[in-house]
Amino acid sequence: MKGTSSILLIYTGGTIGMRQDPVDGTLKPFDFGQILEEVPELGKFGVRIDSFTFDPLIDSSDVEPSLWQSLAKLIQERYEYYDGFVILHGTDTMAYSASALSFMLDNLTKPVIFTGSQLPIGVPRTDGKENLVSSVEIAAAKDEAGHALVPEVCIFFDSKLLRGNRCTKVSSEDFRAFRSLGYPALADAGISIKYNRPAILEPKSWTEPLRISTNLDTRVSILKIHPGITPQVMRYFLCGEGTRAVILETYGSGNAPSKGWFLDIVKEAAGMGKVLMNVTQCLSGTVNMDLYATGKALEKAGVVSGLDITTESALGKLFHLMGVSPDNNWVKNRLGENLRGEISK
Ligand code: ASP
Repeated sequence: MKGTSSILLIYTGGTIGMRQDPVDGTLKPFDFGQILEEVPELGKFGVRIDSFTFDPLIDSSDVEPSLWQSLAKLIQERYEYYDGFVILHGTDTMAYSASALSFMLDNLTKPVIFTGSQLPIGVPRTDGKENLVSSVEIAAAKDEAGHALVPEVCIFFDSKLLRGNRCTKVSSEDFRAFRSLGYPALADAGISIKYNRPAILEPKSWTEPLRISTNLDTRVSILKIHPGITPQVMRYFLCGEGTRAVILETYGSGNAPSKGWFLDIVKEAAGMGKVLMNVTQCLSGTVNMDLYATGKALEKAGVVSGLDITTESALGKLFHLMGVSPDNNWVKNRLGENLRGEISK
């Protein structure tokens, strides 16, 4: 690592910086200055670390797209001054935030690493120190040409660096809280940090500037298909005035009930011009609507395949694309494109 690297550490909240309230015993955020006091190891890197603290600090259950807009703007404003960015964020919605940011930041040439912890940084068995220290090291890492080794939006957790828009939170207790679905880790932090360089995305250009798009259209609903689903629920989610797009979480390779009323409602919503995106409930594999008659019927009714995208990433992709264009056909046509490594294509 070069001694001249500089990192901006952005603190949004989450367990990593929380402490127990002596009165009611719940975890509440504490002052960021205390995080740096808790991790003196950060001073040993030869990396300049500046910090930015959001006000108010939040439990990530309170994350709204306005936080993503603020993060994108902050990164753009400070882009030329730093080699990388580390974002401390609660784990509960970290995969949503990392996914959304990946779409909002175009031609990213520097690392943006989300991390957090399962145990607050001040407690003896915390995972927060290792997550933070390794994230800073990765955010500062350069290749032989002096380019960032990982110019992507990532999540670092429990020794694994994962592509942000492939992640899902899989455990509320284990230190390994995240899994990357359908894509290998970008790096493994053991005795040394081993980068999986063929798996890491290159920017479109190392010389062109970062472009951000902060216009997000949030008129999306997510419906998990389940046995016993009723026409009333289906119609509410798919045909409601407030939604422009619906993520249908389907079974297996993209299958759903073949009952007449079910497909009629899907056709009704498609006829209204809604964007209907098919995302599998499975943790691995892809949507392939050509495999079974029940999937084929959805495709014929106007549903678009999300391939192997995660639900978190599908949400960010739709918010972003719908924010870029008011044309739903244009949005549908872009869903099958691999924009930031979010799908295997
Ligand atoms: N509820 C917390 C949050 O997401 C959990 C965590 O940080 O891990 O903000």
